[in-house]
Amino acid sequence: MRTVDVGDVREAVAALLRQAAHSLPDDYLAAMRRAQGEEVSPTGQQVIDLLLENAAYAETETIPTCQDTGMAILFVEVGQDVHFSGGTIDNALQEATRDAYADLRKSVVNDPLLRVNSGDNTPALIHWEIVAGDGLKVSALQKGFGAELMSRVQMFPPAVGIDGVRSFVLETVEQAGPNACPPLIVGAGIGGSLDTVGIAAKKALLRPIGSENPVPHLAELEEELLEAINSLGIGPQGLGGAVTALAVHVETLATHIAALPMAVNLNCSAPRRATLEL
Ligand code: SF4
Repeated sequence: MRTVDVGDVREAVAALLRQAAHSLPDDYLAAMRRAQGEEVSPTGQQVIDLLLENAAYAETETIPTCQDTGMAILFVEVGQDVHFSGGTIDNALQEATRDAYADLRKSVVNDPLLRVNSGDNTPALIHWEIVAGDGLKVSALQKGFGAELMSRVQMFPPAVGIDGVRSFVLETVEQAGPNACPPLIVGAGIGGSLDTVGIAAKKALLRPIGSENPVPHLAELEEELLEAINSLGIGPQGLGGAVTALAVHVETLATHIAALPMAVNLNCSAPRRATLEL
């Protein structure tokens, strides 16, 4: 059994969130540099140049890469041999979010109908997983809600098959147009149930860009969907071009014989993501 002080977790996760706000992942920046060579539209190329310039400026000046610093979404893997001391882990993660957002935009309302700002960007949305061992891993997404708003979930009958899956992904990206701030990273969850398919799609956004699904037919589907999306002509920031998405990541779950749940979670051109292990 390993004892972890929740105060240490609070400090580390707050630093992680602060860093994610101004420092975009290396794999994303590399994908954008590759996209510079792939984009055929001069306007699209100019937009990619500006986005890269913006990312470099934010990093140098330690300022957010986008005005919407999003909602904190935390995927936490807790080893079953970990004992937390000094308080509850859930509270420590909420405090970490509060600390990190002290100087960032507060974008969370407590009640979705009354719409009163919570004032500190809490609550963070936390997904827990108990794993073997005595480690603790926290992966954070600062999820901008322009792209979240254009994401979709749908319960299909199984008869729609692979063609239905393809159409749903393409329709989602097409309907999003410029509103999700492309170039996009497209997370597709397939299977599970109404509640878990959305989590699978979101978790797909944690994968490094360019990593392919280890299951061959899913890797093939990812490649095929990326090609089809980039044939839509939406382009960087929706101004036309060949680079509408940088990657499609598909994650699947076992499901019931009566349904084919689908979720498409879009991430934008400010894909704030960071991971730590304690
Ligand atoms: S969708 Fe992303 S890039 Fe667009 S405004 Fe929101 S956080 Fe910023």
